[in-house]
Amino acid sequence: MNRFFTLLKRFLPSYRKSIVGVFAFNLLSTVLSLFSFAMIVPILEILFGIASPVHELPVYGGDILEYGKNLLYYYVTGFMGDHGQVFTLMVLSGVFVLITFLKVITYYAGSMFLANMHTGVTRDLRNSILDKILTLPMSFFSSERKGDIMSRLSVDVADVEGSIMGSLDLLVKNPLAIIIYLITLILISWQLTVFVLILLPFAGIVMGIVGKNLKKDSIEVGAEQGTLTAQIEETLGGMRIIKAFNAEGKIKTRFHAQTEKIRDALLRVIKRQYLAHPMSEFLGTLIISIVICFGGWLIIGAHTGLEAPVFIYYLLIFYSIINPIKELSRCVYGIRKGLGSLERIDKIMNSQNPLTCPENPKTIDTFTNAIEYRGVSFRYKDEWVLRNINLTIERGKTVALVGASGSGKSTLVDLLPRFWDVQEGGIYIDGINVKDFERHNLRSFMGNVNQEAILFNDTVFNNIAFGVENATEADVIAAAKIANAHDFISAMPEGYYSNIGDRGCKLSGGQRQRISIARAILKNPPILILDEATSALDTESERLVQDALDGLMKNRTTIVIAHRLSTVVNADSICVLEGGRIVERGTHKDLIARGGVYKKLQDAQKIS
Ligand code: ADP
Ligand code: MG
Repeated sequence: MNRFFTLLKRFLPSYRKSIVGVFAFNLLSTVLSLFSFAMIVPILEILFGIASPVHELPVYGGDILEYGKNLLYYYVTGFMGDHGQVFTLMVLSGVFVLITFLKVITYYAGSMFLANMHTGVTRDLRNSILDKILTLPMSFFSSERKGDIMSRLSVDVADVEGSIMGSLDLLVKNPLAIIIYLITLILISWQLTVFVLILLPFAGIVMGIVGKNLKKDSIEVGAEQGTLTAQIEETLGGMRIIKAFNAEGKIKTRFHAQTEKIRDALLRVIKRQYLAHPMSEFLGTLIISIVICFGGWLIIGAHTGLEAPVFIYYLLIFYSIINPIKELSRCVYGIRKGLGSLERIDKIMNSQNPLTCPENPKTIDTFTNAIEYRGVSFRYKDEWVLRNINLTIERGKTVALVGASGSGKSTLVDLLPRFWDVQEGGIYIDGINVKDFERHNLRSFMGNVNQEAILFNDTVFNNIAFGVENATEADVIAAAKIANAHDFISAMPEGYYSNIGDRGCKLSGGQRQRISIARAILKNPPILILDEATSALDTESERLVQDALDGLMKNRTTIVIAHRLSTVVNADSICVLEGGRIVERGTHKDLIARGGVYKKLQDAQKIS
């Protein structure tokens, strides 16, 4: 429960106006409903011919109900004398309708304020989850977590939304109505009300038993749904392979098993939820009947002065109090259910970023000198992936990293923009440790082109202009020209404003890569990281992309990782990685002459 109040404390303050609105209109609506029910008493008394006339204007004698009733009767008596009983009845009914109309209008207004608040809080919650996710380090986004995060943003937030609505009802709307109704009930007949108050907790206890375990089951539902989302993503992403390997059956079995699991857990939740309705209806009727018997006894047997029409007024109010109480219990269910989701959301919201920022981060305007890896060792989990790397890359130079797959090349370059923090040693740019940099400043010096072009479902223009504020069309076209992309972009139906589909699926691999190169060109970073930028391409598009890359590398400091050694031949220095260590370094000529690992790699490629 505490979680909820923390959530509300965080988001509600910006909705003060709405809170006041909900409160005011619900107060008004409750009071109006008391008045509208009050019209029933004279109507009944006239109908049954038991109306006792009041000819004197009453004076207030301490009992507000008595005074109110007499005042009403005074006017009714006068009106009846002038216009007759039937017309009075019609007018009273008219007033009844009018007050009820006002009541429902104010109720609606109150609900609108509530809706404004609850949709707003949900939006704020979604936004703050995404804001938080964007600050988390790469280590947070292991592939098994992706589906989980997705389902938190969609399913869990929707769940919390339901319970926020409930908890707002709980906090503002219902208690107000219940208190006002209860006070009126006590004023009408304290004996009856005491009796009712003894009765109600029993019903509460019965309902509470039904609601138990709801939270546990709902947590399970959420977790399983996360797994399902991950599976869906994987299935859609891997459709080509699934079909090629005839693995439809396998995927189906896995998916069906998962949906079955969700169904079981969901069924348990829903069974309990559905039980709540018939249970509460039955309990409600039971209680009303008991109250009627007891009230009847008070009127007929005990002669406490309670009159039959007033008793009916009492019952009407009592009936109206049952609804808010029922809703209250439904809120408690809803919140229990939402708590599971909130717990999962909180796990993201409260996760700490291990990449801490210094108190006074350093910034530099330009990169002038060199990048240095000093004795860097790094491991993701237990196994060291990089061991004692020493490497200096002077400004304007190109360093190539080669080595077998898994030797740690990508890891080495990922450390530079501080996607991960090193465990030993340090990485320095112009003599400043990357850990001391302001993170945006650090990353503003770097441009990446990776093996797989990462594009977004948007226009070509927006994909190229992704890393730059206020790029003009001329800038974008110029970048695309250097990247050898202008021609094919112009040939697209809407040119630079064509949508490229999910992850750029409407383009070929080479085209995607050239767009990501154009993006890097436009950002114009002094340091360039090319991680197997051409490895996924066929020879023809590799040539085009390589041309584009040559344009990009001009006058820049470049770290290039390449599988095909032809692309590294011209590098100023080549480092050969093996098992996370630099085992050879030098120019192409040196390394060939040396006849070591590099030479072997080179020879192997010639054969293939
Ligand atoms: P390369 O780019 O040279 O092929 P990588 O730097 O990608 O090699 O990987 C080096 C080693 O680190 C591999 O053994 C790989 O399994 C491991 N590795 C890479 N990324 C992660 C990660 N996110 N979590 C755990 N281990 C990883
Ligand atoms: Mg790699």
